[in-house]
Amino acid sequence: MKTRVVVLGAGFGGLELTTVLAEALGDEVEVTLIDGSDAFVFGFAKLDVMFGRTTPEAVRLHYSEIAKPGVRFLQETITAIDPQARVVATDAGTHEADFLVVALGADYDMDATPGLAESGNEFYSVAGAERLRDVLSEFTEGRAVIGVCGAPFKCPPAPSETALLLHDYLTTRGCRAACEITFLMPLPSPVPPSPDTSKALIAAFAERDIEFRPGSRIRSLDPERRVVVLDGESEVPYDLFLGVPKHRAPDVVVASGMTEEGYIPVGPENLLTRFPNVYAVGDVTTVGVPKAGVFAEGAARVAAKSIIAAIESGAEPEPYDGLGSCYIEFGGGRVGRVDVDFLSGPKPTGTFQAPSAALAAEKVHFGSSRRARWF
Ligand SMILES: Cc1cc2nc3c(=O)[nH]c(=O)nc-3n(C[C@H](O)[C@H](O)[C@H](O)COP(=O)(O)OP(=O)(O)OC[C@H]3O[C@@H](n4cnc5c(N)ncnc54)[C@H](O)[C@@H]3O)c2cc1C
Repeated sequence: MKTRVVVLGAGFGGLELTTVLAEALGDEVEVTLIDGSDAFVFGFAKLDVMFGRTTPEAVRLHYSEIAKPGVRFLQETITAIDPQARVVATDAGTHEADFLVVALGADYDMDATPGLAESGNEFYSVAGAERLRDVLSEFTEGRAVIGVCGAPFKCPPAPSETALLLHDYLTTRGCRAACEITFLMPLPSPVPPSPDTSKALIAAFAERDIEFRPGSRIRSLDPERRVVVLDGESEVPYDLFLGVPKHRAPDVVVASGMTEEGYIPVGPENLLTRFPNVYAVGDVTTVGVPKAGVFAEGAARVAAKSIIAAIESGAEPEPYDGLGSCYIEFGGGRVGRVDVDFLSGPKPTGTFQAPSAALAAEKVHFGSSRRARWF
C-alpha cells in the first residue's frame, strides 16, 4: 500500500507542500489535499478587489486545475481532526493518514470586537473586500478609519498599504480633500522588524495627510455614535471603518487539542507537532514568524522535505530559516520590499528597498510564478 499523506488546507502552505511532494515522489505516494473552498485567492488580491482594480472572479485560482502526479484534491469541509490516530473527519467522510499536515490558516473573530460586525467593514476576506468595494464607491466625504483590532494579524504591512491606496483612490475620484484618513495600529510602528521600512511608511503617511496612530488598542465600535473606543476610553470618530478583525485558529483546530495559547506550537527544525508524523505549517502555527504567505510557503518546504526524508529514510532537511520578502504597495503604481529575517539572530531584522515600478513588476511575477508552480 502507498504511503498516505493528507494535507488539510490548500492555501500558501498546503499548495507549496503538495507541490514539493509531487516533484520529489510523484505517484509513489498518495497525497490528498483537502479544502472547503473551490479556489485559492492571494491575500494581496483582496486589496485589488476592494479598490475596484479587479473582480473577485478574476483572482480566483480554481483547485480543479491542479494537475500533479500522486495528488488528488477534495473539496470538503474538515469537521474533526484526531492527531493521535491521524484520522480526519469531513462533511463527506473520513481520511486516514500516515503523515498528516495541518495548514488551515487563521480565521477571523468578528465577535471579539463588539460593534465591528454591525457597523464596521472588514477587508481581510474576499467577501468583505467585495462589500467594501461597493461601500467605497459611495464614500465621498467624511472620516475613514482603518483599524487593526488585534495582533497577531496576517501580513503586517497590509493595513499600511490600505491607507496609502485609499488616499490614491479618493484622490483619483476627486474627493480626497473632503475626507480624513486615520490609521489605528496596535503595533508600535508599521513594520517593527525594519525601522527603515517603518520610517518610509510614516513619511508616506505624513506626505498624504494620513493620521497614523501606533499603539492604538481597539476595544469596541459604538455603532450609534459612530466612534471607535480605544483602551483607556479615548474615542476616534468615524464615518467609514475599514477593519482588520482579530484572528484565531479555526475552531476545528482548537477542538483537536493541538493548540497552545491559540495556535499550534511547532519547532523550526521540521515543523512537527507534538504528535508523531503530524506536521503544521503557516498561519495556524506559532514558530516565531509573522502570519504571511511567504513564511507559510518556506515552512511548508521544510515540512515537505522532512516527510520525504521519513519516507525515503534520508537525511532530515536544514531547519526552517524564517526568511521572507514582503512587497508593500505605496500607491502610484510603486511597490517597496522588505526582506526580513526572523530566526537567525537574537531579534528579527529587516532591510528595505524603496518603492519602484521595477518592484511592482517583481510583485506581479511573485503571484504568477506561484500560480504556474501550484496549478
Ligand atoms: C489583505 C491581505 C494581504 C496580504 N498580503 C500578503 C502579501 O503581500 N504577501 C504574503 O506573503 N502574504 C500576504 N497575506 C497573508 C497571506 O494571505 C496568509 O498569511 C497566507 O495565506 C497563509 O497561508 P496558510 O497556508 O497558512 O493559510 P491560508 O492561505 O489561509 O489557507 C488555509 C486554507 O484552509 C482552508 N480551511 C480553513 N478551515 C477549513 C476547514 N474547516 N475545512 C476545509 N478547509 C478549511 C481555507 O479555505 C484556506 O484555503 C495577506 C493577507 C491579507 C488578508
